[in-house]
Amino acid sequence: MNKSDPWVPFADIIRDPWSKIKATKAKTGKKIIGHILPDVPEELIHAAGAIPIAVAGAGIPISLSQAHIPGYSCSHAMGALELGLRGELDVLDGMIIPYVCDTTRNLYHLWRNLFPDSPCEFLRLPKKIGDSNAKQYLKEEYLRISKWLEGITGNKIVDDTLVSSISIYNKSRDQLRSAYQMMGTSPSSWTASRVISLFESAVRVPREEHLTMLERLPWNVSADPETDHPRIYVRGKVWDPAEITALFDEYGFTLVGDEIVTGNRSVVIDPIIQEDLLQSLVDRHMSLIPYTGYHIEPSQMIDDFLARIKNSKAQGVVFLNPKFCEAAAFDTPDLIFALQKNSIPNLALETSSRGTSLSQIRLRLEAFKEILAGDLP
Ligand code: SF4
Repeated sequence: MNKSDPWVPFADIIRDPWSKIKATKAKTGKKIIGHILPDVPEELIHAAGAIPIAVAGAGIPISLSQAHIPGYSCSHAMGALELGLRGELDVLDGMIIPYVCDTTRNLYHLWRNLFPDSPCEFLRLPKKIGDSNAKQYLKEEYLRISKWLEGITGNKIVDDTLVSSISIYNKSRDQLRSAYQMMGTSPSSWTASRVISLFESAVRVPREEHLTMLERLPWNVSADPETDHPRIYVRGKVWDPAEITALFDEYGFTLVGDEIVTGNRSVVIDPIIQEDLLQSLVDRHMSLIPYTGYHIEPSQMIDDFLARIKNSKAQGVVFLNPKFCEAAAFDTPDLIFALQKNSIPNLALETSSRGTSLSQIRLRLEAFKEILAGDLP
């Protein structure tokens, strides 16, 4: 492996985030707060003087967690619990689990029981995001979590620190948006697997350090000659299996949009710095592409989804549906029906690091590519 390759450090972080974060903790003395993806505002953790680190379970080989959580739980939740039971998360000074579905609610209660000495909070995100009281409710919830964070770090979250934290995260999102665009203009260098590794690593190291790492990338590389690579849009939760982006590269797909929590969805909107900073974070949350599991009116969900695909100029849609995710199973049939009505080709993959056959995914991607090229009916 070429040590001077600027892409290697991002892959290293994804492979083993925990050794690095232990070293960072020893060096900085800062508290480390873990959070289950999605939608925990990292800016609040940062403003309390701690380092937010995402705990992502997909791809973790499962053994110990099977004794505590039903086997029909998604890989994302099972893997997170596995990391906790293995002792990998002992470096954490606190943990925040968001309420996005029944699985994360159960995970929170399990966590409290299994790790009684480790502070853990439940971020009760509003499920009915269109409700007129949802914004006020979320603001009060952010306030409650802020107090909890202050209790752990001993630092008060004041406006100045929150402005500075939001600015750092806005800068990071801006850089990641640029990286996403590079995938469209220079895909031979800025491949999907490399670009998504930037997003995946961003939530696993101090964001300032990540910004410095981004500077070393080949931003000035010249654009590739125009090609007719099929343009795809991805709907799903996490990049599971982890090899999926490398498969997109292998089959020559160009990723023009996605709704993955460590993908384009995480960077499309910045909080606007205003007098009421908690309100800025609330407004951002409410404007994000809703995570499956939030309740919105079905026809609006479909219309918004179709509009996003149209804007992205995608030729086809790939669903990455985590196995055992009830929320995804509810939404997908309606969305597929709407795509079919609009003659937009789509491919629904049910994925899980526990038992997904990569060769099967390969075959299906190959056939999908031929459909997009007009070679298959
Ligand atoms: S919404 Fe689905 S993927 Fe996300 S935590 Fe819940 S069950 Fe798992």
